[in-house]
Amino acid sequence: MSILTIPQNNPKAGYLAHQTEIDAAIREVLESGWYILGKQVTQFEEKFAAFVGVNHAIGVANGTDALHLALRGLEIGAGDSVITVSHTAVATVAAIELAGATPILVDVDPNTYLMDLNQVEEVLRSFTLRPKAILPVHLYGQMVDMPALLGLAHAYGARVIEDCSQAHGAAWQGQQAGSFGDVAAFSLYPTKNLGALGDGGVIATHNQALAARIRQLREYGWEQRISQIPGLNSRLDEMQAAILRVKLPYLAGENARRQTIAHEYKRGLSATGFTLPVVAPPAAHVYHQFVIRTAQRDRLQQWLRQQGISTLIHYPQPVHLQPAYMHRLPTSPSLAQTERIVQEILSLPIFPQLNDVEVASVIDGLGAFAC
Ligand SMILES: *Cc1c(COP(=O)(O)O)cnc(C)c1O
Repeated sequence: MSILTIPQNNPKAGYLAHQTEIDAAIREVLESGWYILGKQVTQFEEKFAAFVGVNHAIGVANGTDALHLALRGLEIGAGDSVITVSHTAVATVAAIELAGATPILVDVDPNTYLMDLNQVEEVLRSFTLRPKAILPVHLYGQMVDMPALLGLAHAYGARVIEDCSQAHGAAWQGQQAGSFGDVAAFSLYPTKNLGALGDGGVIATHNQALAARIRQLREYGWEQRISQIPGLNSRLDEMQAAILRVKLPYLAGENARRQTIAHEYKRGLSATGFTLPVVAPPAAHVYHQFVIRTAQRDRLQQWLRQQGISTLIHYPQPVHLQPAYMHRLPTSPSLAQTERIVQEILSLPIFPQLNDVEVASVIDGLGAFAC
């Protein structure tokens, strides 16, 4: 047994990489005396909107709220249904129910693990619930084919909410994730490609009226401190915004490092027989996760653990089979791909500070199992 331990992710390394700047930013907030919705949040929102290529960004408390408020901003709620995938973070589906709407779950493509647009079209064509919106998830850092999805949405009069929680900086034909749909939601959870050191979320949109409505919703529905619509409290705090302002300029470089690691994994694992990530040519994949697939998954995970290599499974159970949702949500007739891949997928260590020696050790560990 080796003494080396390689974590699957390492948010502390993300802090230490920018420690001097982050510590100074935190001190500035502490000394400012202003801790909620101030200039740090405003400046982060401006910088983030520019990064995504939209006109408006709204900081909120977390990624689940970002989705929830995006839906409520579009006035999607009770009596409405929203098409999304079962192969996602449970938060995607939870947010639809938080808004009062009904999720309709479709299967994923067995190569990219992303929303199967054929099933989306079948649901749009046939479903008695008349879906009001489509909520694609840019899972693992790769975007759904948004031009095709927008074509469907347009044909059937459905709104589009992008779940970009794993896709900060991803692109399709050079256009950024979060700039295609009516609105987009990003989690800023510490392990995401752009992560706070606590909870955070941000919503992006081109639509000024929608942005204004979401700004109201995030703080009690206030306009000049009078509630015009029923809202809630979902604010991004100044400390997290200050940290995010420090980290945002490094995101592109850190995504490039993730891509380099992914390239090394693909090169090193090409002869192993494990199924490696498939990237659609128009997609710039930012490798929030590097997911391999094998029928030996559980044995492999155990083997790697013995070598000191941590892995995770994203996700061990599809949402429609988890107790909170089982037998309760409408789905397309078959979720066969989703149900199959969850038995076989494994997320390898990947984060920008993972070094070349560690990458080589992961490759060696996988190679030794494959032999
Ligand atoms: C992380 C994540 C969320 C939820 O974000 P939180 O900040 O944890 O609420 C939603 N969707 C996807 C795809 C995610 O990965």
